[in-house]
Amino acid sequence: MEVVKRASAKGCVVTRSPEETQALGHDLALLLQPGDVVALRGDLGAGKTCLIQGVCNGLQVEDVVNSPTFILVNEYAGKIGTTDVPVYHFDLYRLTHPAELVDLGIEDYIDAGGVSLFEWAERGAELLPVPRWDIELVQTTDDERRISWTYGR
Ligand code: ADP
Ligand code: MG
Repeated sequence: MEVVKRASAKGCVVTRSPEETQALGHDLALLLQPGDVVALRGDLGAGKTCLIQGVCNGLQVEDVVNSPTFILVNEYAGKIGTTDVPVYHFDLYRLTHPAELVDLGIEDYIDAGGVSLFEWAERGAELLPVPRWDIELVQTTDDERRISWTYGR
């Protein structure tokens, strides 16, 4: 039952403010389970960090959530229900080759049972495991973002 629900999880919305994007992230967080991988694609300013702030809020993270651009990964303490779940926030913008993810110990992070969130997921390409959430953000006007998501392989 659960598998069917997640396999068919997909959608698309247009948000008209950072707050609406964060609210969407909060809603999407309610679909997440420990071990999930979330791959976000979209240009600079598309709203990836903004959406992740909402996801982290939905995962009961109390730390300040900002892009880990210089150190590649931030770790936060999250929860799903009453279960403690680590949240790993990667920003692959500065990755020069997907293989660097191996050096970073990406498999250990993913196997640790946390939720792994990737900005600039396209730079990690085929090294990001499936099944996973894929989220694409497109800036349509100054304040509008078209955000679509799917879960699967
Ligand atoms: P990214 O991480 O993709 O580079 P950020 O989330 O850091 O993007 O930045 C998005 C920027 O766009 C912020 O300055 C935010 O205030 C602005 N913005 C305007 N409208 C929206 C919207 N609908 N959703 C998200 N961000 C928006
Ligand atoms: Mg960002």
